[in-house]
Formats: sequence, C-alpha cells, structure tokens
Amino acid sequence: MNLETNLKELKGVGDRLYSILQNNELKTIGDLLLYFPRKYDDYSDVLAISSMRPGLVTIIVTFSNIKTRRVRRGLHITEAVASDASGKVKVVWFNQPYRAKAIDLNVSYYLSGNFDLSNQQLQITNPSIEKAELALHSQTARILPTYRESKELTSVLIRKLIAQIEQLNLSIPETLPEWVVKKAKVISYKEAIFSIHLPKSTENLTKAKERLGFEELFIIMCAAQANKIEATKVPSPKIPFLQKSAIDFVSNLPFTLTDAQRKTVWQIYLDMERDEPMNRLVEGDVGSGKTVVAAMASLMVAEGGLQVALLAPTELLAQQHALTFEKVFSHSKFGKRIGLLTGSLKAGEKKALKEKIESNKISIVIGTHALLQESVNWHNLGLVIIDEQHRFGVQQRQKLHLKSGYMPHVLCLTATPIPRSLALTVYGELSLSILDQAPSNRAGVITEIVSPNSVKQMYEKMIEQLRIGHQAYIVCPLIEESISLQVDSAQKVYTELSKGVLKDWKVGLLHGKLKAEEKDAIMRKFISKEIDVLVSTTVIEVGVDVANATFMVILSADRFGLAQLHQLRGRVGRYIHKGYCCLVLSDSKAPSKRMRAIAQTTDGFELAELDLEIRGPGAIYGLRQHGGLDLRIASLADTKLILRARNVVSQFMEKEENLLKYKQIAQQVRRASKLTYLN
Ligand code: ADP
Ligand code: MG
Repeated sequence: MNLETNLKELKGVGDRLYSILQNNELKTIGDLLLYFPRKYDDYSDVLAISSMRPGLVTIIVTFSNIKTRRVRRGLHITEAVASDASGKVKVVWFNQPYRAKAIDLNVSYYLSGNFDLSNQQLQITNPSIEKAELALHSQTARILPTYRESKELTSVLIRKLIAQIEQLNLSIPETLPEWVVKKAKVISYKEAIFSIHLPKSTENLTKAKERLGFEELFIIMCAAQANKIEATKVPSPKIPFLQKSAIDFVSNLPFTLTDAQRKTVWQIYLDMERDEPMNRLVEGDVGSGKTVVAAMASLMVAEGGLQVALLAPTELLAQQHALTFEKVFSHSKFGKRIGLLTGSLKAGEKKALKEKIESNKISIVIGTHALLQESVNWHNLGLVIIDEQHRFGVQQRQKLHLKSGYMPHVLCLTATPIPRSLALTVYGELSLSILDQAPSNRAGVITEIVSPNSVKQMYEKMIEQLRIGHQAYIVCPLIEESISLQVDSAQKVYTELSKGVLKDWKVGLLHGKLKAEEKDAIMRKFISKEIDVLVSTTVIEVGVDVANATFMVILSADRFGLAQLHQLRGRVGRYIHKGYCCLVLSDSKAPSKRMRAIAQTTDGFELAELDLEIRGPGAIYGLRQHGGLDLRIASLADTKLILRARNVVSQFMEKEENLLKYKQIAQQVRRASKLTYLN
C-alpha cells in the first residue's frame, strides 16, 4: 500500500462509506492524509473522577447500570454510571443505541468528553470511549483532531481511518530536499503528516504545523523568487533622470506633492535608471494620489524617447485617466502625445491611433487590459503601468517582451494595502512603495454601524444629503457562492427602494451581469447626475471618482472583508465634502470585532493586518484570484517562521538549477507562480 492506494482497501471501508468519502473528494490514502484537522481538543490529561472540573476531561473507568430507552420517535437515550477508585459520574449518550450492547462491563475504558451541567446534574454527554488495553487510541486520552464534518463524515470516523493508516507503516517519501529539511531544522514529512492528525503532545503538534507551514511558505517564496529571476533575465532600457523636466512638471501641478508621493516618484526614477527591469508596486489608499505618481513615471520615460502603456481595469477608468493625464501634461510637450485606445473607438480611429503609436507619434497610451491583446506594434515600449492590480504576471510580461525585444519596466498601482508579512511571502519579487499619507485637502468620512432595525433613520439621513444635491451609493450584500444570487438580491433591493423610500429620487442599478458598455453607461449617468442613488453590487469597488457622492450604505456589511469595506468606503469623503458610510449589519446582534474596527479606524494597513489575523489571507481582496496563495497551515502572523523560510529559500534559489533538480518542488512552484518556463 502507498499514498495512491484506494481507501476501499482499508478495513471497514465498504461501498457505502467509500461513497461518502468520495463525496468529500477523498479517494486515496494520500487524499485523506491531506485532509487536515480544523481544530484540536486536548484530552491527554487522565484525571481521577473526584478531581474533575467542568470542561473537557479524560478518565479511566469501568461501566455499570447501563440503561437504554427510546424516549420518543427520534430520541434514544443510553445512560450508564462510570466509576474509578475515586468516585462515580453519570454518562449519557443520545441516539447511540449500539452503546449499551458494545460496552463490556468487565474491562476498563478511556473516556473522553465534556463534563458539564445538564438537568441540574453534572454529567458527561456523548463522550468517546475506547478500551484502555488498546495499543493505539484514536478517540480518547490524547489531543484529538476535529475535521470539517458532514452529516455522514464524522471526525470519529476519520480518526479511526487515520489510526489504521498509521499502523500500516507506509513508506512516505520526503517532499523537500534533505538539506533543506536540515537547514530549516524541521521534522520529516512523514512524521509531520501523522502528527498533524494524531499529535502525541502539544510540542509534537507545534512541530508538525511548523514543518507543514514551512513547506507552504517555501513553495510560495520559491515561486516569488523564480518570478523575480525570470523577470530580470531580459534587460530593460535605462531611463535617465532629467531634473529640470521633473521640476517643471511639478511646478505646473495645481497642488504640492505629499512627501510620500515625492519619495515614491524618486524610488521609481532610481529603478528605471538601471538596465534591470523595474517591478514596483505602489500601494496607497483610495485618494492617496497614485495617478500623478504614474504620470511622473510616464514623464521620464517619454523624455527618454520611449513609450508608456497605462492599463486600467475598466474603460471608464481608462477615460478618467486619459482626462487626468491630459490635464497634468497640458503644459508639457507630451500633452499632445497621449492616446486613449479603447474598444469603443471606431475601426478607423483605432487604426489611425495604432499607426501613430507605431510611428512613435504617441508617447503615452492609455487603455484597458485588452490593450495587451490588441495587435499594437509599439515603437519602443519602455514602461507598463497597471492600475488596480497587485502584480503583473510573468506570461503577460513575456508577451510584451516578445513584442518590444526587451523587457519594459513595470509599475503596479493598488489601493489594497498588503500587510508586510504577506508582502515578504507572496510578493517577494516586488519592490514596494507605500503612499501612507493622504493629501491634506480631504474632508474624510464618518463611519457608522447600523442595526437592521434602524435603516429607516439611515435612509432619512441619506435623503438629507440628496436634498442638498449630493448623491449616494447603496452596496448590496456580498454573496460569494454565485453571481446570479447576488444580482437577484441587488435587483430586489433596487425594486424595493425605488418603489419605497427612494420613490422620489432617480435610482440606478449596477451589477456584474451587465455588459461592460451597459455598466459604463450607468456610471456615466451617475457622474452626470442623471442618477441620484446608485444601487450596486461590489462592481463599483475599483471604481470611478464621483466627487459629489457623499453617502454610502453597505448592506450586510459583516459579510465583506475589511479591506473590501475600506475600499468601498474610500469612494466617499475624498474631496471637500464630508462623507458618510453606513455599515448595515445582517442581524441585530452586537457588532463583531471586525465591524467595530472598521468603524474606528480609517487606516487601511491596520485593517488589512486585522483582516489577515481574523480571516486569513484569502480575505485580502484580490489575493484569491491569483490562486497562488493556498496556505492551509502556515500563519502569516508567524514572522519567525517566515524569516526562517526566507533564509532557506534564498540559499535554495541561489542555485537556480535547484529548482530544475527537484521535480516535485518545481511543479508546485510552477503552480504557485504560474510560471511557464520550467519543464
Ligand atoms: P488614487 O490613489 O485613488 O488613484 P487619484 O490619483 O485618483 O487617487 O487622486 C485623487 C485626487 O487627488 C485627484 O483629483 C488628484 O488630482 C488629487 N491629488 C493627488 N495628489 C494630490 C496632492 N498631493 N494634493 C492634493 N490633491 C492631490
Ligand atoms: Mg486610482
């Protein structure tokens, strides 16, 4: 038998159980071993009955007075008295009629369960028991794992199967190179995989988590490093820094740059002066002024006689960027060398623009991501700027590289703050600039938590804002399972409100099932104030800038990640008008820690750290879509392990051929990094 062996081969796995296992995507021994526990309860301390305190306990007992009865349809009770030398305790099982017959009155059992008050009497309800004489206990007297369960697939069942597998003494190969295991001072894969299921002690469990967590970090960090190596293989054009040009540009801006903007622009200039490709991520809250940073990066590239591509997530945003760029470049010779290439151009216009790009009459081309698919023959692309994206995939880069003959510099802009530990792990290939300073002319936003019982007053407040000529957003509940459900619910909210409290106002509906042009049309109406209130799903998240919108309602706010709420909230209060953000809870229970946190702080980084801590990395907006981050064991809060892993990874990756040598690792790394070049 080995990891590929079908679970059917195990004792006690008949057709029925096998089909249950299969329904949970568990087919082989290997599948089951990778089905990690969700939590653990420590039952390892064996107590005397007389010294038990309410809570989880383990005792070693014999049984007497077993009684079993059917109370009514669907309720069957088995009662017994458990005794040891120190005393007695009542034990009750619900709906486990087989218990009475199964218990042997002449032998001792380990019993593990919850000792607590029930019907004014201390008793142990539904405990697990196992004969004390067994060589290996999987249900009692140790640290016991709990798994993700379904009605049929219980933790007890899984533990039994795992215990059986452990006894088989399979040969389970080490997954990391031996020297990595040594260097990292972690336990072997085999030991870890069994200890994660049936730990012998708390220390043993810690070691198992450390080992498996290390491996996850190792793979992800190798992937980041491999991306970095790959990205720097082809040189980039050096972009010389021209001080006069930068000073001229800044002196014509209608505002002074923040220190954070100045520093970031400087970092970008330094990067681009080298012939290694820049790969920089600029993180800055909504409204922190990333566009002007992008413009200043573009300026220097254009001065160097090269071209810039600026990609926005939507056509409307591309248009807004084009307007901004035309404004900030209006005093510059490049003002006339900006082009907007979008799907809505007529065929003739598009052709003409492409020709201008090819003959280098255009220096800065703004468009959506589709720009990369367009058959644009760049004259000499020197910089790609990507708005609202964390990173630019190696494959996307390579496409550009094929076109231009060298690697353009890459600058990514995002409003999602990425906690430091995450950046170290997943974004190891990126240089990071942080715009942690809002321009000083911001009115800010007031956040309020609203119970579902008081939405009426909330809508009254909203209408006050509408009366003075402002506009509002209503964001509908996030339903992760399906877009259709989410659209339905948005539709419902829209219908109810536009017939109810908002019947005197112009209400629009925006959702993810609309075509791109339909969405743009609605956003345009909102911008031109033909719509007062925009009911929307989360599609406005990476949205446009409507300075006149001051009020935002987020329904079932507790279903959103903090980072996401923070981004949404950033849509209001960006300008001279004070913003209001109402977080409506999905029920009238007291608000959670997360909700209180977002109401109290507007610091995106603080919120991202908290989100990471409470909900894990999947919650960080935009990470899921990269698919690279599948941390089941490693905690990104474990900075010690992260630093240890980084250290080992850098030694491993010093020899790039290491990655080719270890096939299995290479495969995982490729998956994590979506690399194409490793075979
Ligand atoms: P984001 O970081 O969300 O992309 P933008 O670049 O769209 O933010 O900037 C938001 C607004 O702030 C724009 O109107 C921009 O002109 C303005 N802005 C940018 N930097 C400053 C600054 N230093 N002082 C004042 N206003 C600024
Ligand atoms: Mg922006």
